Amino acid sequence: MDLNNLPDNPYFLLTPGPLSTTKSVKAAMLRDWCTWDDDYKSIVQEVRSGLVELAVKDTENYTAVLMQGSGTFSVESVVGTMMPKNGKLLVLTNGVYGNRIGQIAEVLNIDTIIQDSGEIYPVDIEKLEATLEQDKAITHVAVVHCETTTGRLNPIEKIAPVVKKYGKTFFVDAMSSFGGVSIDMEKLDIDFLVSSANKCIEGVPGFGFIIAKKSAMQGIKGQARSLSLDLFGQWKTMDDDKGKWRFTSPTHVTRAFHQAMKELEAEGGIEKRAARYRENHRILVDGMRKIGFKTLLPDEDQAPIITSFYSPTEEKYNFNEFYDKLKLKGFVIYPGKVTNVDSFRIGNIGHIFPEDMAGLVKAIEEVVFWK
Ligand SMILES: *Cc1c(COP(=O)(O)O)cnc(C)c1O
Repeated sequence: MDLNNLPDNPYFLLTPGPLSTTKSVKAAMLRDWCTWDDDYKSIVQEVRSGLVELAVKDTENYTAVLMQGSGTFSVESVVGTMMPKNGKLLVLTNGVYGNRIGQIAEVLNIDTIIQDSGEIYPVDIEKLEATLEQDKAITHVAVVHCETTTGRLNPIEKIAPVVKKYGKTFFVDAMSSFGGVSIDMEKLDIDFLVSSANKCIEGVPGFGFIIAKKSAMQGIKGQARSLSLDLFGQWKTMDDDKGKWRFTSPTHVTRAFHQAMKELEAEGGIEKRAARYRENHRILVDGMRKIGFKTLLPDEDQAPIITSFYSPTEEKYNFNEFYDKLKLKGFVIYPGKVTNVDSFRIGNIGHIFPEDMAGLVKAIEEVVFWK
């Protein structure tokens, strides 16, 4: 392979992670690194402080911890470490990822209540308040921000004040939104927030990260239900040993993420990236509606990250054929995940621009074979 002339991607990944990344992010992986040497550890520390700076202004009182594995491993490390033995978790869910938080809690034998709104409906905030009023044993509340199952943006700015009115610890799975949608972690008083390398920061998969209030982290010592996913243990080692992970870290992925963070800054930060994603999303939805597609969710509930569309009802339509034809034109889309509704999804995050989304809409127009 000629390293000075690396191949372009054969298609855009319109899947919300892994997603299309820049060549410079991928090129950052073309070097081997020690896990314990200062050269590498200083990169880890820059990533950690950079994440805190992306999340809050009051950087003194917050910290970031990186955790090996896919995003779910980070969610599991938070759930399994933040919950005290006699704690009780309330999970608000309207999709696969909210349900997954509940499954993790169940596997870990954590006392849990699930408030399930169903996949295509919003979180019932009055019911949340009634539950917190009535069940004083609840100590923690968890919710997914952008529910990637459908593309719904759950209104954490309305949920947080209720959770905090009752003095509960608040955990937000912002996996597919952090970096691509502004989140005011301080104002919302979020205790633990999770995201991963391969979503809106536009890195490659291999680790997740937890941004948390230091005061919340200090309270979780000794509570872990797993050795490798002990959030407190990971934090202590990263802090005390200045960037060392407890166990072998994904060195190349971390280096790529460090580069991705520089590129986010060069783009103008989260506000600018969020504006690009919103524009990508607008071109997608406007174009799809012109062709005749309908979105699953009303616009006001929709995150500018990934969009679910109803499948065409014509008999000749079939997802696999649609997928293959689009892939040949340079675009990979995503199957639907909603039970009982025939749908498909298109992501608009990653190193993708409005002109690419316009190209996608044109490709879809050319591909329509079911009418
Ligand atoms: C991607 C994602 C996750 C993590 O999924 P992994 O497959 O473990 O990376 C969790 N929650 C949400 C909302 C996600 O979009």
